[in-house]
Order: sequence, then structure tokens, then C-alpha cells
Amino acid sequence: MSCCSGTESGPDRFNEVRTTTSSNVANRDQNSRMFKYIVVGDSAVGKSCLLLQFVDKKFEDQHELTIGVEFGSRTITIDNCQVKLQIWDTAGQEKFRSITRSYYRGAAGALLVYDITRRETFEHLSNWIEDCKKYSSQNIVVMLIGNKSDLESSRQVTTAEGQSFAEKHGLYFKETSAKTAENVDEAFIKTAQEIYAFQNKTGTV
Ligand code: GDP
Ligand code: MG
Repeated sequence: MSCCSGTESGPDRFNEVRTTTSSNVANRDQNSRMFKYIVVGDSAVGKSCLLLQFVDKKFEDQHELTIGVEFGSRTITIDNCQVKLQIWDTAGQEKFRSITRSYYRGAAGALLVYDITRRETFEHLSNWIEDCKKYSSQNIVVMLIGNKSDLESSRQVTTAEGQSFAEKHGLYFKETSAKTAENVDEAFIKTAQEIYAFQNKTGTV
């Protein structure tokens, strides 16, 4: 896959959350596959915490700001097939946007995250979708995630609004909490199941 070069974004700046292989090449034999995911959305919506919860089953209140890109991986089983999810967590800030764009390439799944307690992060979704359409493969499976569902009393975006946005744009949708882990596995795994089914249907395995 392409990688950003030079400056502060180089590979030596990556923080590995957990990795079991350095290979980027999809394993396409019958009993194992590898799906690349990208996690995108505004700064501080909880992208890194979602990754940490999914990969390491933990939550840290004061997570460091993501610089450039980090990645983690976890292997799940679908239909007796070992599916390794290689998940690239990106920085939401505008100054990193061009780096983020280079990570769409080769991604089979995207988690597009907003924060249900900050309306502006929901309003910015169209920009993220535009990037996704422009820089990813046509067949990418996109899961819209309304994160921080544990903060119900501070909610600014209703579940119905999230659902309706997802339907309008042909996305899957879940509300999650990286803090309580509610729906976190479900969001990552549902995305994998859809990619898996699509690959089987189209014979792209
Ligand atoms: P990122 O910039 O999108 O990667 O956001 P982070 O994962 O760094 O999270 C930003 C802040 O939101 C941190 O203080 C987290 O502890 C907090 N946070 C993330 N997810 C949740 C969640 O589901 N619930 C609550 N209450 N806080 C969260
Ligand atoms: Mg982050």
C-alpha cells in the first residue's frame, strides 16, 4: 500500500497498538483472509478509543492525540474462516487530512465516526463521505458510528437522525460506547461480515 513519505508522518512515527504480522498483503486462501479498515471522523470523537476497546478490550480516559496514523489488529472467525482485521486509525485534524486520504487505498471497510454529544461532528460527516468516495475503492463497506452512547444526558444527535443519515447514504449504522464497550465488537464484526459476504458473492476472494 502507499505510505506517506517524509516529514512527521513517516512510518517511524507510527504507534503500534497491537500487531501480529507486518504484512500488508491480503491473505486470500480459503481459511483465512485479511481486511484492511480505516477509521475516520473529526478529532476527539473516540476513534482511537474504539480501536483500543476492540483490540485490547480497554478504555483510557486520557488517550493521547493521534499523530498521523496508528494501527491495530484482531483476528475474528466468520464461517470457520480466520479473518484478520488490520485497522488503521487516523488523525481527524485538518492538517493530517492529506495523510488520512492516502490510507483509503486498499481499505475494504471504513468506520466513519461522530460523537453523539457534539452536533458539529455529525454535520461534518458529508466531508468525510466525500473523501471516502474520492479516495477509496467503490466497494468499500462503510459503517457509520455514533460514539459515546454512554453520555445520554449530553446527547445532541438523536438515534433517528443517525439512522436516517446512514440510510440516505447507503451506510450501515450503529451507536457505540468505547467506554462501556457497548456495540463496539458488533460494529467491527458486522462490517467484516458484510465484506466477507460481498467477496463471496462477487468471487473476489
Ligand atoms: P479521536 O481523536 O477520535 O481518536 O478520539 P479519542 O479516542 O482520543 O477520544 C477523545 C476523548 O473522548 C477522550 O477523552 C476519550 O476518553 C473520550 N471518549 C472516547 N470514546 C468515548 C466514549 O464512548 N464515551 C465517553 N464517555 N468518552 C469517550
Ligand atoms: Mg485518535
